[in-house]
Amino acid sequence: MNIVVLRETQPGEARVALMPESVKKLIALKATIQIESGAGLGAARTDDEYREAGAEVSSDRKALLETADVLPVVNRPDVEVFQQLRSGATVIGFLRPLDEPKALQPALAQGLTTFSVELIPRITRAQSMDALSSMATVAGYKAVIIGANQIPRMFPLLMTAAGTVPPAKVLVLGAGVAGLQAIATARRLGAVVSSYDVRAAAGEQVKSLGATFLEVDLGGIKTEDAGGYAVELSDEAMDRGRALIAEHAKTADIIITTAQVPGRRAPLLITEEAVNGMRRGAMVIDLAGATGGNCALTKADETVERNGVTIIAPTNLAATVPVHASQLYSRNITAFLTPMIKDGELQIDMNDDVVGPSCVTHQGEVVNKRVAALIAS
Ligand code: NAD
Repeated sequence: MNIVVLRETQPGEARVALMPESVKKLIALKATIQIESGAGLGAARTDDEYREAGAEVSSDRKALLETADVLPVVNRPDVEVFQQLRSGATVIGFLRPLDEPKALQPALAQGLTTFSVELIPRITRAQSMDALSSMATVAGYKAVIIGANQIPRMFPLLMTAAGTVPPAKVLVLGAGVAGLQAIATARRLGAVVSSYDVRAAAGEQVKSLGATFLEVDLGGIKTEDAGGYAVELSDEAMDRGRALIAEHAKTADIIITTAQVPGRRAPLLITEEAVNGMRRGAMVIDLAGATGGNCALTKADETVERNGVTIIAPTNLAATVPVHASQLYSRNITAFLTPMIKDGELQIDMNDDVVGPSCVTHQGEVVNKRVAALIAS
């Protein structure tokens, strides 16, 4: 089995799908690995390091694709890449099957097997493969660092000869993986942190990180599904949450928003009025920009100013920490592939409770029912 890794071509992308440490592990399972020259440079890994790990390095992208059995990627490749792969080859990565299902049609037409890391079920056995959590961890951390760098104040409480400097106030909306990492990072820098989430279970985790959990009476409605994800709420429940947030926004120096509902537009949590009520110099860092944003003024990958308040919504923060983001991602991909490799060959068992649910296309069919319905619509 030949595993090929290309240089990622999406603008701003610096991550690589496999790091040299993972190359070694896969070679030990009798796979051969070919790397496109320069693929690891953004993540500070040279061609020589890949060679030392046992990979072959080549600049001939076309030839690499023609011999690939498995193509691990970070971002969904271009149509041309799908078309240059052999029928029956396997692609795995962030393929965005629920956001842009039709973009996978060329992979289907080419007879490729595609696995989407977004669809890997969040069951205990698959924790080491959870790329969404890995990238959310990096994004939550980096959001705080960006905020700390940009606001006109310091984070920690300081008692100086010139008087006391009060700590920064950080409000984190959505206490999932990214939100919890943002809380932990802001606390380490000395900020006073509060957080809001519709899932009551998030409360304990927020408190265990030394932050305050903001609670609102949502009337006892169901706020999470069987998988532990938030569900879409009624307008009334949303309004109660928004009123609470607007109140706390008045004194926040930074609001980091991470709220998502899988397969839906991100919930609107910060209204225009709430932004108007914020202090000059404050900042909103919206990590839900790719799915519409949690703030009414958000523009994905743009900076918006309103009365001295800055709103940013970087959609690919993980790519700005490419070494660790690649390291975690590469381990996730390796953990996914390892149980499927038998005697150096990839053996796809669609009955496996991780392999089956994460597969989008296989043997000329869209096997994921949700994606199939979206493609047909
Ligand atoms: P996510 O990115 O889908 O959403 C981020 C957060 O936004 C969630 O905590 C969600 O509850 C919250 N949210 C949604 N709508 C909201 C609203 N209207 N107001 C306020 N907050 C809102 O979630 P995620 O970070 O990927 O994780 C979601 C869940 O999955 C969590 O319970 C997490 O612990 C769990 N999880 C489990 C595993 C596992 O392997 N078992 C791994 C990762 C995450």
